[in-house]
Amino acid sequence: MSNFDRDVIVIGGGPAGSTVARYAASGGADVLVIDGRDPIGTPLQCGELVPTNDEMRRLCPDVPDMDDLFQTPESAISRHSNKMHLVPPSGKPLKFDFDGYVLNRVAHDEFLVDLAKKSGATYMVDTRVERVEENTVFLKSGETLSAKIIVDSGGHNGPIRRDYWTEKSVKIPVKFVLMEGDYGEAVELHFGSMAPGGYAWMFPKQNGANIGLGIQRSFAKGKSLNQYTDEFISKYDGDITFNGAGSLPMSGTIKKFVKGNYMLVGDSAGMVLPSNGAGITIAMIGGRIAGQVICENLKNGTPLENYEKIWKKQMGKVMRNSKRSFKIGSLLFRLPDWILNLMFNRLTKGIIWRAVTCRRMFWII
Ligand SMILES: Cc1cc2nc3c(=O)[nH]c(=O)nc-3n(C[C@H](O)[C@H](O)[C@H](O)COP(=O)(O)OP(=O)(O)OC[C@H]3O[C@@H](n4cnc5c(N)ncnc54)[C@H](O)[C@@H]3O)c2cc1C
Repeated sequence: MSNFDRDVIVIGGGPAGSTVARYAASGGADVLVIDGRDPIGTPLQCGELVPTNDEMRRLCPDVPDMDDLFQTPESAISRHSNKMHLVPPSGKPLKFDFDGYVLNRVAHDEFLVDLAKKSGATYMVDTRVERVEENTVFLKSGETLSAKIIVDSGGHNGPIRRDYWTEKSVKIPVKFVLMEGDYGEAVELHFGSMAPGGYAWMFPKQNGANIGLGIQRSFAKGKSLNQYTDEFISKYDGDITFNGAGSLPMSGTIKKFVKGNYMLVGDSAGMVLPSNGAGITIAMIGGRIAGQVICENLKNGTPLENYEKIWKKQMGKVMRNSKRSFKIGSLLFRLPDWILNLMFNRLTKGIIWRAVTCRRMFWII
């Protein structure tokens, strides 16, 4: 018998936390997920685009068994898109084949919670974790709970990341709207002075679109994120039905995901591909590895650090390429718009696509 209330407490039941919970519980661990929200996933903070499983196999070739990990149900998919347009300031897009789903993110996260519950995990919602000390989780209500292993998947301000890791991540602040109207089939990423140091997006849904923008503040020349967002959104003329905001960690993964009995997963570990903003599927890749490693640890005492090793095998190359592309992009996208317009051409098309999809741009970089 363990001396603790639970084998595992997971702080945050987003894509990272619910995936840790699902795999840890299905391997026999006694898992409790605690989340401050009720229901989990609301209010929406997302552009809602994920690659399909086939596209994920192309993007992340070292990740096994995608179909077990990503079981996105029809009810969570708003639109299936098979085109991506990368748009320079001129508005003339480079067009690519890309297989993606624009989700109903709230339904998607609810589905992940259900999967974890079916595997045996239990949830406490509307419950914020204030801090963690050794094996004890202190809730805002004053209650405490204990666990052998504590996972922080509470995003980049998660309580364990905040109190036990000193590393800082670059975060880009993001604003977005849901807008009514017909926006065609293609998902769009826009680059240039409309979103300095970041990008803007337009992802068409079954009805309307998710439209938003993120910037690096240091590149913003005194203009506010609100001004940039208003300007970009004013190019579209539908009625706005929802306003949202958040921020994305853009430095790639931090150095260590494990300290003692603490593990970081998802945004709290920096698991977002900076060159395209993908965080949902990446958090789930990390979540599966963490969940499986937790089970092995509980059964055989194998080190939790195996999580870092397996992550590097599956995602190391993709993350490195994505970080490099983002850095190069950050430099290039500071150039005047007219140069960017020239740079987006037939000859560079392949290189730009390789950068966004986390492959090496050239044979050396
Ligand atoms: C505006 C915006 C647009 C984005 N667009 C896309 C996109 O189009 N495609 C994509 O793939 N990714 C996108 N991302 C990134 C993606 O949303 C994240 O990478 C992903 O949600 C990370 O999952 P997570 O489980 O780590 O964190 P989250 O989904 O943020 O979940 C964290 C959970 O932890 C809970 N929590 C936090 N702190 C506490 C606490 N102290 N106590 C209790 N509970 C706590 C929260 O309530 C929340 O439910 C976007 C992000 C933003 C902000």
